[in-house]
Amino acid sequence: MSDSATLQAENEALLGFLYMCPVGVLRTAANGDVEMINPLAAQLILPLIRQPILLNLFDALESFAPELRDMAARFVAPSGSICQQHRVFISSAGPGPRVIAFTLLKVKNNCLMAVLQDVTLQVDQERQLRQNEAMFAALVAGVNDFALFSLDGDGRIDSWNTSGERQTGFSRDEVMGRDLSIFDAVGNETRERVMEQIEDAAREGWSLRERWSARRNGDRYWCQIMVAANREVKGNDRSTPAERSAIVGYAVVLRDVTERRVTSDELRRLLTTDNLTGASNRARFFDLAETEIVRCRMAGRPISAIMLDVDHFKQVNDCFGHATGDALLRRLVELCRAQLRGRDVLARMGGEEFAILLPDADLDEAMAVAERIRLAVASSLHLPGPTCMSGDAWPAASVTVSLGCAALASHVAGIDGLLKSADEALYDAKRGGRDQVRADRYPDPQI
Ligand code: GH3
Ligand code: MG
Ligand code: MG
Repeated sequence: MSDSATLQAENEALLGFLYMCPVGVLRTAANGDVEMINPLAAQLILPLIRQPILLNLFDALESFAPELRDMAARFVAPSGSICQQHRVFISSAGPGPRVIAFTLLKVKNNCLMAVLQDVTLQVDQERQLRQNEAMFAALVAGVNDFALFSLDGDGRIDSWNTSGERQTGFSRDEVMGRDLSIFDAVGNETRERVMEQIEDAAREGWSLRERWSARRNGDRYWCQIMVAANREVKGNDRSTPAERSAIVGYAVVLRDVTERRVTSDELRRLLTTDNLTGASNRARFFDLAETEIVRCRMAGRPISAIMLDVDHFKQVNDCFGHATGDALLRRLVELCRAQLRGRDVLARMGGEEFAILLPDADLDEAMAVAERIRLAVASSLHLPGPTCMSGDAWPAASVTVSLGCAALASHVAGIDGLLKSADEALYDAKRGGRDQVRADRYPDPQI
């Protein structure tokens, strides 16, 4: 092939490339007169001008980017880049402006090359990204009850912000490069232990743990620590899922959930105590009794129970109203507690009926306690006055209780047997005229 034929072939190949090129390319004189233009450049610029042919690039862009002409005029070097990816915003009928990025090169004197790219979509994505970043930053800075920050792939803190500082009291300089053990209150969390959670997150995608944490000033709080793996997509469609993504770091959320813990304590209280009197409830009584019976049996110690029922309580309600009845039950619990030891269990079994468990106490001791309670009630539980609304006779202005005692023995098995036995003694007391203590006394009670 002759030299001219080779040149001709190369020229054609170059023209073919320019024709199919995915970016707009045009060549102009120094004043912007167009000498060559590829289809994409024509497609991008022609809609901007009124004439059907593009004669001069700077004239065409006069109303959108007059600065391009000035930049070219001011460029005095014999060749080089006049501007790179200079964004020209063109108003359009659509939702946002069309944006064309211009790269203008001076190839030699009186020869400019322009490369044009439609970057409308990219600009819109950048705007959305900035908006998201701003919203996220506002969210992170605005939250009060949790801290959000990140760790690098080795589990060391690599970003910190106001939410973290507010929650923990640590400054950026103090935490950067440290691991999560810096927030531990108890001193248990070594790097190895905190890495366990990081490894969980790497394996499962995320991991949630709770422990006591301490702020910089030493204040402790119950902290929920959420670690989520941050994966970066790489590889191609043929890669396995593991190959396609690699962990590049972790996002961490620290939440102060001390309040919630208090709430669960509150819930526990609601589940174990009687709402009206604050005594243990029936379920709690049985729970504790099972454990205490086993403990006393194993230690060879006695254990006993008292059943208590308010005498003529129905009349109290009828004559003084339900609210007075309620107040009386609360006062009764106070009086009983004053006669009991720390390990004794006082529970409201229902209505005006109470059970008392006395670990380490034999029947005589139980009767002594019951008698003290009976006396305390009879001498100090008084009603406002003998006004009976229903007209029924009210026997006395003071309230009394009847009590039945029983101890765990060969014939009294388990908590059910103990309560049944104490209940029988209570009915004896009722039948005997009330305001008295009776015992379910069998010969030779033994454990
Ligand atoms: P007894 O001496 O034979 O025990 O007579 P009583 O009137 O105490 O016995 P009874 O079991 O017939 O009555 C119990 C009453 O307790 C009936 C009910 O109105 C009342 N009562 C049950 N629960 C409550 C409560 O939570 N508050 C109030 N104020 N009264 C209650
Ligand atoms: Mg009663
Ligand atoms: Mg009753």
